[in-house]
Amino acid sequence: MQVFKFGGASVNSVSAIKNMAGIVSQYLDKPLVVVVSAMGKTTNLLEKVIPGIPASEEERQRLVNESRDYHLDIAKQLFGNENNKTVAQLNNLFNELDRTTKEAPTSYNFDYDQTVSFGEIISTTLISGYLNSIGINNIWVDVRDIIRTNENYREGIVDFETTRRQAQEVINSKFKIDSLHSISEKKSSQPSAENSKLIITQGFIAGTAKGTTTTLGREGSDYSASILSYCLDAESMTIWKDVPGFLNADPKYFNNTIKINKIPFNEAIELAYYGASVIHPKTVKPIQNKGIQLNIKSFIDPHAEGSVIGPFENIEPLTPLYIFKNNQILISIQPRDFSFIAEDNLHTIFAVMAELNIRVNMMQNSALSFSLCIDYNKILLEQIQQKLESNYRLCYNTGLQLITIRYYNQGIIDSIVDGRNILLQQRSRTTAQLLVETNRISDK
Ligand code: ASP
Ligand code: MG
Repeated sequence: MQVFKFGGASVNSVSAIKNMAGIVSQYLDKPLVVVVSAMGKTTNLLEKVIPGIPASEEERQRLVNESRDYHLDIAKQLFGNENNKTVAQLNNLFNELDRTTKEAPTSYNFDYDQTVSFGEIISTTLISGYLNSIGINNIWVDVRDIIRTNENYREGIVDFETTRRQAQEVINSKFKIDSLHSISEKKSSQPSAENSKLIITQGFIAGTAKGTTTTLGREGSDYSASILSYCLDAESMTIWKDVPGFLNADPKYFNNTIKINKIPFNEAIELAYYGASVIHPKTVKPIQNKGIQLNIKSFIDPHAEGSVIGPFENIEPLTPLYIFKNNQILISIQPRDFSFIAEDNLHTIFAVMAELNIRVNMMQNSALSFSLCIDYNKILLEQIQQKLESNYRLCYNTGLQLITIRYYNQGIIDSIVDGRNILLQQRSRTTAQLLVETNRISDK
């Protein structure tokens, strides 16, 4: 069995969906589970209609209608104008979204998940219906019946044991796994939805024991595909992207990027941790535990080789890798009582970070001051100040860029920093991290 993941950009238009169908149709010789995200920028839009968020009822309605028009316009082009079952299902889903977003707010995180999850339910309904309409028989599966999380809304923690059991029950029953060995013998018989080898399901969303919907964190569809790969002992997992593979830098910043053909599991985890946006940070661990290979391939050029994350010793080719995180802030914290920054102070500071769920991207300690670099967020910064200001003096610099370079040398650092002021830096044998002022980003 293989698991594919298609992200929002790969299904954001009529031509993109047709392209995706073309790719899927070439891999139906084995059972295939396809995980799909919300179409285009749908999740961003849905974040604006969560109960309590829109500035007015008109605003809420305008946004819901915008999303409805976007999806129905694509559906009409795919299905033509005749009365279509999928179009009727989509209309029902948008009516339900309308009702959900009209409700009085309860808790933000709970409302968030009940609202934004519509993006994936809608995209998979549309795509599954389209594939069936062109003869690519598939079964739509509600992933909330498979991936079980706790009630930590917006960042559900996966219960792997329950998920594994449910995945096997649901998917294997759909695939009628017992008769799988005979699939090749049955090849000549006409495929039907009942003996389909293709499942279409949602990324990003999951369900609780209570039956409520949770999400796995923004961009979490990669992680969904990885959870399913792990639970179904997939032979491989493939993420289809708008880039040719795992590049040594974000093409937004670099003209001449190099594709990394082979990436060891641990290297991929480190890169995602430092902020490489090509895969979600939680993605690699589950598949690494099972030794399942992860392919990153281009949906624009599906026959090109792409990149492979797997049980390799080194990256290949060995070349410097660059990761940029913008909009960083450096906070310096000094105890008001002139005490040294020792374990008790560190304990207090980190308790606040943990309580506010803040990830520290880089940190440094001196006798009298502790500095930490985090993603800028106005509300969280105010909360840090509130919680610490009675005992600590806080100063901060905003508008910074955190640059991470793996396999660096001094020449590379100099050309990237390009004369900018460095506020903090750390180097290990393989990795240099530099926090710099963002006065210019040069094209290297
Ligand atoms: N649709 C979700 C998001 O935009 C999940 C994903 O795309 O991976 O964050
Ligand atoms: Mg996405």
